[in-house]
Amino acid sequence: MEACETRQRDMYRRNTVEEALLEKTSQRFGKIWWIRKIVQLTSTVVFLGAGFGVARTIVTLPILLTFGNQGKTVVAALDAIQEMSAEAIMPWMPLAVFVLFGVFVGRATCGWICPFGLVQDLNGLVNARRREVSLRTHVGAIKVKYAILGMTLFFSGSLALSLIYNIGADYKAALGDLSHGPFSALSPEATLLGVLPILGRMVLLYFLGIPPVTNPLSSDLVWSRLSSMTWLLATRLMILIFVMVLSFFFLRAWCRYLCPAGALLAIFGRVSFLGLRRNLLQCNKCGDCMKVCPMLVRLTDGPWEKMTDPECIMCLECTDACRYKALRPTFP
Ligand code: SF4
Ligand code: SF4
Repeated sequence: MEACETRQRDMYRRNTVEEALLEKTSQRFGKIWWIRKIVQLTSTVVFLGAGFGVARTIVTLPILLTFGNQGKTVVAALDAIQEMSAEAIMPWMPLAVFVLFGVFVGRATCGWICPFGLVQDLNGLVNARRREVSLRTHVGAIKVKYAILGMTLFFSGSLALSLIYNIGADYKAALGDLSHGPFSALSPEATLLGVLPILGRMVLLYFLGIPPVTNPLSSDLVWSRLSSMTWLLATRLMILIFVMVLSFFFLRAWCRYLCPAGALLAIFGRVSFLGLRRNLLQCNKCGDCMKVCPMLVRLTDGPWEKMTDPECIMCLECTDACRYKALRPTFP
C-alpha cells in the first residue's frame, strides 16, 4: 500500500516536472538578470576591445571568440586548441583551461561572460512568444553538440599528430580553409562578430568612395576578396542565419544543442565545485524555476544537496524566480 502511494506520488511529481519543462520559458527581468546583463556587456566590450585601444593579451578563456574577430583582446580556448594543432603543437594549455574552469565553475562562463551567449540572450529577448520543445527532442538534440565537438577534436588531433610525424603536409593542404580549425572557420560567432564587421567596412568604404587610411582597398580588391571566399562565406552566412533563427524561437538554442565549447565545459561541469542547492523544506515543486531556465534544466529532478547539471550555465535566473527562496548557489 505504502509502495503504491510512493509510486503514485513519484508519477505525480514527474508529470508536474515534465509539464513545467514543456511550458514556454518566460523571460524575467529580476535583479540577477540586470546584474548578469551588465557583466555580459562589460566583458563583451573588453574582450572585443582591441578596436578601442585595449591591448591584446594571452589570457585564455573557455568562451566563444574565434579568430575571425580581429579586435579580440583574449584568446578563446577552443580556438587555441585548433590553432596549436595546425602548427603541430599539442594544445595542453587550452585543454587545461577547459578542465580548470569546468571543474571549478562548470559552465558559468557561458552564463556570464561569453559574447555569443549575450548575443543569443538579446536575440531571444525580442521574441515574447517562444516555441515549446518536447522533452524527448530536447534530450536527443543535446547530443548534437558533443558530435560537433568530437568532429572538431578529431580533425585538429589527427592533423597535429600527422604533422608531428611529418606525414601531414598533404592532409593540411587538403583541408584548405579549414586547416586552422574546422570549427573556427565556420563558427557563427566569428561570422557575426568577426567577418561581417570587416565585410561591412569594406563595402561601406567602397560605396562611399573613401580611401581607407590603414588598409587600402580598391574596388577590385573588395570583389576579388569576396569572390575568393564565396563558398566559405556562403556556408558561414547560412549557418549564422540558421543559428540566429533557432535562438530567436528557442532561448540559448546554440548553447543548448550545438556549441562545442559548451560541450567540452559540460563534460567537466558534471563534477564542478560550483552547483545549486535546493532547500527541501522550502521547495514545493511549483516549477517556477524551470519555467525561466534557458537551458531547460530539470531542477526538481536533481539531487537537492548539490546539483551540477552539465547543461546549467549558472545564470541564476532560477534562484531569482523562486518565490520561496529555496534555491541558492553552493561552492564547493
Ligand atoms: S555554450 Fe558556447 S556560445 Fe554558449 S555561452 Fe557557452 S561558449 Fe558561449
Ligand atoms: S538551472 Fe538555474 S542557474 Fe542553471 S541554467 Fe537553469 S536557470 Fe540558470
